[in-house]
Amino acid sequence: MARPVIAIVGRPNVGKSTIFNRIIGDRLAIVEDKPGVTRDRIYGTGEWNGRSFSVIDTGGIEIDGEDELLRLVRIQAELAIEEADVIVFMVDAKAGITNADEEVTRMLFRSGKPVVVAVNKVDNLQRMDDIYEFYGLGFGDPVAISGAHGTGIGDLLDAAVFKLPEKEDQTYDEDVIKVAVIGRPNVGKSSLVNAILGEERVIVSNVAGTTRDAIDTPFEKDGQRYVLIDTAGMRKRGKVYETTEKYSVMRSMKAIERADVVLVVINGEEGIIDQDKHIAGYAHENGKASVFVVNKWDAVEKDDKTMQHFSNSIRDHFMFMHYAPIVFLSAMTKSRLSKLLPVVNHVAEQHALRVPTHLLNDIIADAVAVTPPPTDKGRRLRVNYATQVSVKPPTILIFVNDPELMHFSYERYLENKIRASFDFEGTPLRLFTRRKS
Ligand code: GDP
Ligand code: GDP
Repeated sequence: MARPVIAIVGRPNVGKSTIFNRIIGDRLAIVEDKPGVTRDRIYGTGEWNGRSFSVIDTGGIEIDGEDELLRLVRIQAELAIEEADVIVFMVDAKAGITNADEEVTRMLFRSGKPVVVAVNKVDNLQRMDDIYEFYGLGFGDPVAISGAHGTGIGDLLDAAVFKLPEKEDQTYDEDVIKVAVIGRPNVGKSSLVNAILGEERVIVSNVAGTTRDAIDTPFEKDGQRYVLIDTAGMRKRGKVYETTEKYSVMRSMKAIERADVVLVVINGEEGIIDQDKHIAGYAHENGKASVFVVNKWDAVEKDDKTMQHFSNSIRDHFMFMHYAPIVFLSAMTKSRLSKLLPVVNHVAEQHALRVPTHLLNDIIADAVAVTPPPTDKGRRLRVNYATQVSVKPPTILIFVNDPELMHFSYERYLENKIRASFDFEGTPLRLFTRRKS
């Protein structure tokens, strides 16, 4: 389920990235005391009052060749209006209301989105008087904050979370497989989507969704229902910011969050680059099933070893996703395309697989008998009992005498044994160790 989105807008230097980092709790991100600090992330997740949400720092979307402040701020506000459920409009207590602030105010008003005004740099009590001016923006009570001292952030989150919509807008039946197609620009995502939807026996149903979900495409093949979730680049709507890389990564993340199965599209002609890894890693961390799709296979000069070499290269680059199957195809010629949906069905099934407790314990008992856990300072891990507690992804609790004694390598060994018995192809497995004798 996608999290609701809070976007931060405001002109440069009001403190957006400082606050963004505080909200996502990323203590490692050091905000240097100079204007225009570099940002490597613009999208993160936070939690407050039991609600989890995504946060976008729109200030991190830089537009190539765009150095006019007013235009830049306008583009960023447009992005926030399009993507967010609640907008945090950040202003600077020291600077007061500027022209750019007024421009943003007009845009936000027209959009009708819920807005919380955050007045930053209220570093001490004397500054509290400076916030009254911002009532004039017309968005209700401004919240005084200080990114430098971390004060007021709780009040800001109270106000923002309060305005989040109650529930996710669109849900699908349990048996509908939600598929996200992700990858860098030009790997062939839209070609692949069109090829899938154009396949024989595929029935595309055109539901008029809400504005946010109109980009989902439900379809059916051989009695199985699917939804394709749109990603950046698939629909070229012509907004300036859509061509920026950070925006495309952000869109991919949003699509991944809502998906069951993620198709990680790789350009077979070009091979693998780091950007492929960042996006795929997000699918893994979010516990989604994944399939590697090596596209443009028609354009690759091949002999009988080419496919094996490419597979090896994927395994080397994506070691953490050793479980994901690889499909080679061409969206253009449709060669091997028919292999894809059966693989999607299979990994979706494995992602939702529940194994009976007694079978799981038999496997674990065998594994422990074959290779007993190593001792640590004279103490030995004792594995008592295991049970699967949830699916999507399959999550297994292992009860032991002392969780401290469970080492990564032994956990990996148990995971491999479990996989060898139950398949779980295409899905990450989550193992958690708990104390219980
Ligand atoms: P952005 O461009 O809106 O993302 O702004 P930054 O987060 O990069 O911050 C701009 C500058 O303001 C940096 O030098 C920050 O250290 C500084 N800054 C951020 N928050 C505060 C604050 O609460 N008080 C003061 N005095 N400076 C701050
Ligand atoms: P996206 O940006 O990932 O959505 O990529 P597109 O679907 O727009 O494709 C980018 C380019 O790659 C276009 O020129 C396509 O015609 C081309 N392309 C897509 N799939 C294939 C394929 O299977 N083989 C070849 N040779 N070209 C392809």
